[in-house]
Amino acid sequence: MLMSSRLRSLFAGVLALAACLFLLLNGGPTGAKPAGAVTLEAEGKLQWYRGNLHTHSLWSDGDDYPEMIALWYKERGYDFLCFTDHNILSDHEKWTDVEKNKGGRVAYDKLKERFPDGWVDERGEGEKLQVRLKKFAETAERLSEPGEFLLIQGEEISDRFEKFPIHLNATNLDEVIPPMKGESVYETIQNNVNAAVARRERTGRPLLIHLNHPNFGWGVTAEDLMRVRGENFFEVYNGHPGVRNSGDEAHASTERIWDIILTQRIAEFDLPLMYGLATDDGHSYHRIPSRASEPGRGWVMVLAETLTPEALIEAMEDGRFYASSGVELESVVSSTEGLDLRVKAEPGVSYKIEFLGTREGYDPTSEPVKDAEGNAIRATRRYSDDIGSGLKTVEGPAGEYRFSGDELYVRARVMSTKQQPNPSEPGEFERAWAQPVRGPAGRH
Ligand SMILES: [Zn+2]
Ligand SMILES: [Zn+2]
Repeated sequence: MLMSSRLRSLFAGVLALAACLFLLLNGGPTGAKPAGAVTLEAEGKLQWYRGNLHTHSLWSDGDDYPEMIALWYKERGYDFLCFTDHNILSDHEKWTDVEKNKGGRVAYDKLKERFPDGWVDERGEGEKLQVRLKKFAETAERLSEPGEFLLIQGEEISDRFEKFPIHLNATNLDEVIPPMKGESVYETIQNNVNAAVARRERTGRPLLIHLNHPNFGWGVTAEDLMRVRGENFFEVYNGHPGVRNSGDEAHASTERIWDIILTQRIAEFDLPLMYGLATDDGHSYHRIPSRASEPGRGWVMVLAETLTPEALIEAMEDGRFYASSGVELESVVSSTEGLDLRVKAEPGVSYKIEFLGTREGYDPTSEPVKDAEGNAIRATRRYSDDIGSGLKTVEGPAGEYRFSGDELYVRARVMSTKQQPNPSEPGEFERAWAQPVRGPAGRH
């Protein structure tokens, strides 16, 4: 169709006016966007990238070859994956015994079937058959695709203090960081964080450090983690069935730990917000589903312009991501007025959006948890219900929260009525966790 440029601009103007009117009249379920809002939504170059930042392979205690694990994620629509074996980077020559390793003959047969073209390096035979584990660079060269699928090198720095395990993941690491040790759980975390921060400063290469599964071995309490400096990420959800995301009678859940940390960081320590991740911590890749630590349970969705470690880490440090165990979000809008959230609803599934937070003037007292004999045990202390209290609940796929003025922070959690197909704890429903934002009383 031919149109003069004047007519064309008039036509465009009418269309824009119509669009404005439509928005004014409808406004969508969450109404018009408040001024100065930060909108997390795919638009233009900005895309949601789905990824898992916690993965084990035969380089440590996983039961599959790295290239097979990369394929697993790639074929299920993930955009990125970070390998995080215990205290090792896959940057050197390493051979594995086919019969004796955790994957055994099953893993080997699957590997040969998927890579029949001479890709697999082997030596010996029969009982003595060995395969050379591919280095990160080899796996990445074979399976990464620019803009489509990104493999990232990482490490699970696996430390402990006395009997308490302390694990931190370093994403986009270029040189192994050995466990740094310390005189307490807190100090052990801080020493490892300091090593990662120093590495980043020395190389200029972006590196993300996060605290893994605080409740694994009841290793890390809210009080340990709340005062750590230089580390603003932790796993609110980890797919390993042994990490006790939900806590127990004596131990706070990871969500409770999160709220205590957020409150204390704002009110007492003047530290940045702590962001929550969901990860797989996959070790077992051959019998899915079963009750082992399998892939596909938890991931992050990161809003970035490009699929590179630099862009992803920058976005996460800005809080431009959410954690999920199944629920997908359309948008998260934060502003000086409040927090809005919209779910990408699935047919036949219902959603509940809960806004949680702590208000100024909250009761800050806490007590130790005691055993049957009345002795204090090493566990996150008990705080009042003012911390992480339910501020508002919305039934439906979209919800908005408007600040009343005294909130230190607000975060949102989405619960769905869809059962997680392969849950880490029995009976789990799919969820999503939006990142916390500071409320009017939490801004300095
Ligand atoms: Zn771990
Ligand atoms: Zn792990």
